[in-house]
Amino acid sequence: MEQARPVFRFAPSPNGLLHLGHARSALINAEMSARAGGRLLLRIEDIDPARCRPEYEAAIYSDLSWLGNAWEAPVRRQSEHMADYRVALEKLAARGVIYASFESRAEIRRAVEEAPDWPRDPDGAPLFPFSRTAMSEEERACRMQAGEPYALRLDMAKAAALAGPLTWREIGWPDGAEEILAADPLAWGDVVIARKEVPTSYHLAVVVDDALQSVTHVVRGADLKAATSVHRVLQALLGLPMPLYTHHALLTDADGRKLSKSLGSESLQNLRANGATPDEVRKLAGL
Ligand code: GLU
Repeated sequence: MEQARPVFRFAPSPNGLLHLGHARSALINAEMSARAGGRLLLRIEDIDPARCRPEYEAAIYSDLSWLGNAWEAPVRRQSEHMADYRVALEKLAARGVIYASFESRAEIRRAVEEAPDWPRDPDGAPLFPFSRTAMSEEERACRMQAGEPYALRLDMAKAAALAGPLTWREIGWPDGAEEILAADPLAWGDVVIARKEVPTSYHLAVVVDDALQSVTHVVRGADLKAATSVHRVLQALLGLPMPLYTHHALLTDADGRKLSKSLGSESLQNLRANGATPDEVRKLAGL
């Protein structure tokens, strides 16, 4: 039997123009998939209707073609697959690990301000300051029935206990060195799994899509490394396979500092307009 080819994906959000950091991720995906004889998918992560725009999506295709990247058609757009995320939410509900959360942003902010040194998640945001048990299940059901808007949150303590200890295999870029990393989902607290205004979240959609698209290699920036702990819990609870992960270093300047805004976030469109060639962009992106 022919062995299935590895599957890689580049998954930008069309909420702005691509910059050098995106180019770096796209190019590393392309290079790793070529080395592995794999397939490269492009996924449009457009679950946020308030921030995503068709012109940014069009710019993604144009910038990637200009860079010389090729991807398979059809491109999966998350906004067209809400039914898939609903099925996953139902599975999580059946396991008793999600609950409705009615708190507003302002209420959450106030609660955090009142608690000195309230713990923060790996991204620096305060952990959700209310506990699932602070509201009775009856009150929750009542408010849902009354049509109050709510987000769905993961009861992380319960989810992590059900999932048991989790690890993932991290493949280094560019050296290919392998290590097994331990997931630390409790560091994230009760994350939002479906928002009030959108019936999914980044965490849920990424995990469901990687599985549905048979992605075997997730290659993305180091800023998403810690989120892999949340993704591993969701994969375990939903019975989904675990891809291999590579979290490549973000762009740095000559002194090893994270690239400054002036260079790092200059759009590829700007670089192109100023006469940069795809080869020059490859170099600027550290390839
Ligand atoms: N859509 C995410 C972003 O643009 C990337 C998601 C991922 O690679 O897991 O930052």
